Amino acid sequence: MRVRFAPSPTGYLHVGGARTAIYNELLRKSLGGEFILRIEDTDQQRSDAAMIEQICNGLSWLGVHWDEGPFLQSQGVERHRQTAAALLQDGKAYRCFRTPEELDEARQDAQKRGETLRYRDYFEPATKEEQERRAAAGESFAVRFRMPDSEIRFSDFVRGDVVFPAEALDDFIILRSDGSPTYHLSVVCDDVEMRITHVIRGDDHLSNTPKHVGLFQALGAPLPVFGHLPLILGPDKKRLSKRTGATSIEEFRDLGFLPEALYNALALLGWSPGEDRELMTRQEMEELFTVERINAGASVFDRDKLSWINAQYLSGSSLDQLMPHLEPFLAEVGLGDLGDDQTGRLERAVDLHRTRARTLGDLAQMVVPYFRPSLDYDLDLCTKFRKQSQLPQQLGALVEGFRNLESFTAETVEQALRSLAEEVGVKAGALIHPTRMALSSAKAGPSLFDLVVAMGQEASLRHLENFAAFLRQNPIEE
Ligand code: GLU
Repeated sequence: MRVRFAPSPTGYLHVGGARTAIYNELLRKSLGGEFILRIEDTDQQRSDAAMIEQICNGLSWLGVHWDEGPFLQSQGVERHRQTAAALLQDGKAYRCFRTPEELDEARQDAQKRGETLRYRDYFEPATKEEQERRAAAGESFAVRFRMPDSEIRFSDFVRGDVVFPAEALDDFIILRSDGSPTYHLSVVCDDVEMRITHVIRGDDHLSNTPKHVGLFQALGAPLPVFGHLPLILGPDKKRLSKRTGATSIEEFRDLGFLPEALYNALALLGWSPGEDRELMTRQEMEELFTVERINAGASVFDRDKLSWINAQYLSGSSLDQLMPHLEPFLAEVGLGDLGDDQTGRLERAVDLHRTRARTLGDLAQMVVPYFRPSLDYDLDLCTKFRKQSQLPQQLGALVEGFRNLESFTAETVEQALRSLAEEVGVKAGALIHPTRMALSSAKAGPSLFDLVVAMGQEASLRHLENFAAFLRQNPIEE
């Protein structure tokens, strides 16, 4: 098996392209074989070297690995031209001297009659001798491929047998008048040259495939197996686009999704291993992947599901896996340079909060309080506490209780808090909730005693003292 992913470097790596790459990779991994990365850069005006790099980086970040390439399609242009010349020589293609204006006019006339113009019905190609004579006289021409007069049939592992009737086919240009090969010619030449056995690509190429089949046959090359992947829709059930949010792999990276989570979510866009399985390791996906379980219907890209999958990966990954991905997000919230002595505290905090985060950005935000000298408290969020005139004093007593602890563990902290509550005659909750607010500036979070320990003795005391001062300065009299 030899598969290829063949992006055009005219834009970023998008969800659709990434899913195509993933299915190519899963298929070849599940059956054994080679994965070739080919950059289809023959449209020089629209191709961009920076995009090639972005696409390769996007694939690498996502964890898609290729065995051969990246090959640049533009480097094969001479070979593609020679193939066109050979087809011309064999009478399988012909020189077309019609100007685009002539074709346009004929197209419009046909439209007026309610017909669709088919080149082959309207323009009898000149004889070979005449073609050569006009070419020698310096007339400009394109090279057109002569499609067979019969239907074109191919098997597609997503759609089954696909048939295009003869009436739907037309001769098409393989070499433009400036001598540049068209996509149809280049793609087939390269697939033949690279001995591609399985062509997996988006549905948008389905109408191109009969042209390609015609070329494969004319070149006497074995036909690859095709698989056209169904469209990806946005939440509005229209073709996925910027309208409904991020579409490129880089955007998802910057939004705080883990590559493993995105890979998993994209793999499920049109394929399911059955039994409602959703979370899978790469190895499991590779083992379970079969083309039979690819859906022929369009799939909806569900951002909530991606967030859910991401949350599972944030909880389940090892810290070693997680920390490098978290680093840029820590830098963004000002925690880029914590120093080695803080690594242990940082890891404890990350470990404590990661089950509550949906993105890496959330997680970075959650650990901010651990490293700030003081926190900002929201007056409204603290209304209840500001009404309790005894609270600042009680928190002061709690500070003393915590200060005197010889060992600072979840158990000793809990015990100190509960005995103080008993002493002053309040429920434990009456100290737990304000302590949480003091340490995290939030109303909810992980177990308070774990939070205090992860925060550490010094920082816990500092935040409690600051919060008591905040309450003294902002009381609500009742
Ligand atoms: N270069 C084409 C694209 O980016 C893909 C061609 C193919 O897979 O055959 O849409």
